[in-house]
Amino acid sequence: MAEIDARIRRIIADVMRRNPGETEFHQAVTEVTETLAPVLRKYPQYAEHKIIERICEPERQIIFRVPWQDDRGEVHINRGFRVGFNSALGPYKGGLRFHPSVNLGIVKFLGFEQTFKNAITGMPIGGAKGGADFDPKGKSDDEVMRFCQSFMTELYRHLGEFTDVPAGDIGVGQREIGYLFGQYKRITNRYESGVLTGKSPKWGGSLVRKEATGYGVVYFVEEMLKVRGDSVQGKTCIVSGSGNVAIYAMEKLQQLGAKVVACSDSNGVIYDPRGIRLETVKRIKEVERRRISAYAEEHPEAEYRAGGNIWTIPCEVALPCATQNELDEASVRTLLANGCLAVAEGANMPTTPGGVRALLEAGAAYGPGKAANAGGVATSALEMQQNASRDAWTFEYTEQRLREIMQKIHHDCYATAEEFGCPGNYVVGANILGFLRVAEAMVAFGLI
Ligand code: NDP
Repeated sequence: MAEIDARIRRIIADVMRRNPGETEFHQAVTEVTETLAPVLRKYPQYAEHKIIERICEPERQIIFRVPWQDDRGEVHINRGFRVGFNSALGPYKGGLRFHPSVNLGIVKFLGFEQTFKNAITGMPIGGAKGGADFDPKGKSDDEVMRFCQSFMTELYRHLGEFTDVPAGDIGVGQREIGYLFGQYKRITNRYESGVLTGKSPKWGGSLVRKEATGYGVVYFVEEMLKVRGDSVQGKTCIVSGSGNVAIYAMEKLQQLGAKVVACSDSNGVIYDPRGIRLETVKRIKEVERRRISAYAEEHPEAEYRAGGNIWTIPCEVALPCATQNELDEASVRTLLANGCLAVAEGANMPTTPGGVRALLEAGAAYGPGKAANAGGVATSALEMQQNASRDAWTFEYTEQRLREIMQKIHHDCYATAEEFGCPGNYVVGANILGFLRVAEAMVAFGLI
């Protein structure tokens, strides 16, 4: 027993030593490996095959220069990344993030998480992530296009529908996927729909992909509350962010009869006690690409809190849907003191380790991102299925598939947590479930 705990401590220490300065990657690895001791006790062969050690080392990491010109002709240089983390279960799959904060450590934390998340979906996809330290904010469409073309001019050689299939993430939506796909098609002379997901449904994308992550989070919350004899209906909710995941989480909450009173962006918080008017948020964010403060200019009943902390607003359900480490321990304690019952992560690793501990100790319903936000990548896999069969499914059918997938993810995480002696702990359930699926395939393939 002590030997296994020591082994896990040694693995974490090695990851920290070999990947200096990559704090988000250290955090993600620690969070997962700390829950795996019972697995090594039950399945000693995974220790013998050094599966944890192998899973913590990406299979490949690509870093490249992305030169591009702005509208005035000035030259800019960004850095592009693609980390193929694990391909035991299928081709690499995971989003591209364009944000000035992107660095190798962030891409590796996201790729590591993605490996487990994709395994949890039960679909045949490996884990990857990529992106660039490019900031699309304030750029013209032409500038974004030139950046995407330059980015793909290097990345294309590493992609393929059976090799690596990127999608969107922060700063990468349908517009960017369009430019990336156009350049891929032009360079390769192939209309290979299955090489990117998150495409517009007008040219090979799946209906519901845009909504999938946000809708999926809410389906997951619904399942967590059902176990507790409760439901989403009538709940007061807050959702951080106002991007793709946040908007469609708010939409599904409202469709299920909940009241969403606040959302945010990186500059501030909107509090609308009447309930957020989603059509306004969609127009401001998706069409006009403006700041969320514009909401209060149109709705004087709402309050804009520049630089505000959304987590001080009382709610029963809180969905962090912006970015990593946005919900710390102090904010979790404020949420709990205000009567919050459930937290589910639309974003990847938005809750700090102290925040997670506080939620688990309080017995709140807590859905970690690798389970709760897996609906996005699961629907990307549905997009790949449609592309492979040259088919296009209806919105209703695709949404029903998404709902069933989220219900199954919840069920499997719940059952795994129970099997390993931690009932109701979805962190343990998700980590162990994802690990076991990847580990079984890795052992089957031998030492590769
Ligand atoms: P978007 O770019 O559409 O929206 C991101 C939102 O988060 C914006 O409101 C943005 O505000 C805010 N935000 C981003 N970075 C920061 C920051 N450093 N501090 C504060 N706020 C920030 O991205 P998505 O909605 O696609 O992604 C949101 C989260 O969900 C990410 O963690 C992503 O990894 C995760 N996710 C996304 C999936 C998808 O399908 N898109 C799938 C699974 C997880 P601002 O505009 O001011 O920057």
